[in-house]
Amino acid sequence: MQRREFGYVISLLLLVCAGRALANEVTTALSKDAGQHWSVTYTAEKPVTRLAFARSPDDSRTRRWQPFTDAFVVRYFDGQEYIERTDGAAFTSVSLHLTPTYIPLPKDYAPFSPFSDGGMLLHSGRFFACAEACDSATQTWAFTLSVPANESIIVSGKGYQETAGWEDTDSGQTVYVGTANPIADSHFVSIIDQQLPAELSQLIAAKLPELMAKFAAQLGELAFRPTLFASYSDTDDGRYGHQGGVLPGQVFMHWYGKPAIAQLDSQAVYWFFAHEVAHLFQREAAQIEIPADAWVHEGVAEFFAGQMADKGYFGDKLVQAKLRCRQGLQGFNDYAQASQRNSQLHYSCGVVLMNAINADLLATSDKTLFDVWKAFNASVMAGATPSAQSFVATLRPYLSAPMQARIEDFATRGRIDWLME
Ligand SMILES: [Zn+2]
Repeated sequence: MQRREFGYVISLLLLVCAGRALANEVTTALSKDAGQHWSVTYTAEKPVTRLAFARSPDDSRTRRWQPFTDAFVVRYFDGQEYIERTDGAAFTSVSLHLTPTYIPLPKDYAPFSPFSDGGMLLHSGRFFACAEACDSATQTWAFTLSVPANESIIVSGKGYQETAGWEDTDSGQTVYVGTANPIADSHFVSIIDQQLPAELSQLIAAKLPELMAKFAAQLGELAFRPTLFASYSDTDDGRYGHQGGVLPGQVFMHWYGKPAIAQLDSQAVYWFFAHEVAHLFQREAAQIEIPADAWVHEGVAEFFAGQMADKGYFGDKLVQAKLRCRQGLQGFNDYAQASQRNSQLHYSCGVVLMNAINADLLATSDKTLFDVWKAFNASVMAGATPSAQSFVATLRPYLSAPMQARIEDFATRGRIDWLME
């Protein structure tokens, strides 16, 4: 049995792909036929001896991607998946059958999140492949997608019939394929699975507009209308759980297995929404690329969710977070080492840290973390690198002298013991 908790998601950590440069010489053609079969064809401009994937969180492509012919194989070695010819010869094109079911991937988004009506949300980043090897100066990826005539495609917030083409960068995006009509309100364009409990649709209808308004009041209106996808698929192996995340302009969540919806807890779901929406409002400053710095945007998203939740609920979350943080730090002298082992500490220790910082800000300079985040984002917009270092530089002038010393101690030496007192 598997259970994933909301909030412990990858979120913007995924935005680790480097900047954009020249277009890749490999094009990606995805296809869904009338029999619900999914396939992908890669075409390289010049012959290649292998195609490498931009990210290989595990070796699951070796089991879930089947080349159309025995002439090709998907291999995994040295932490990396490749497509090669079995005879080692060069090639320009290869087609593979895909397995369009939900799987959780370590530190990555699920490639396919099915809806119960046959619709599908796919993550384009899963299909990023490069000629020979992906280097750090990562490119743009050219996609085409074709689907049966009665189905539509939603990509980059726009709807298409039958076919669509686009270019992706960074971590890619989620793309919808199916027959559902999106609901557009003033805050979101959303597709909510009909098999999710009515309680969830009601929560979205009643609470999300209020949540968006609260965030806008603190951090300014968003310049775009985000897309929201909530999907559900049953499982046949007893697995159940839920996972979600955010990519630029998109919030998505998936529930799998009947117990996951039977146990739906509306306060936990609200917290999840609030955390992901916080990332949208964190804007460019959330695009911190150093994994060790994730306590900044994850800790702040947890804290902002707490500001949007009931006081009592936030209080309970803080108590739990402190406990988890303390347990996670046991046996380690420094936060970086502990959080490298257990990335959930960025959430638990992060929110405890941010709560202490916010209290100090209020007492010292009558500011809140919302004010500091706005200033941090302004500095990023003006050219500062989004990182823990620049966050601390923005924060420092507003803190008391003892808190400045503690944050310095934490940010440079990873010491967090004062928080555990
Ligand atoms: Zn997050």
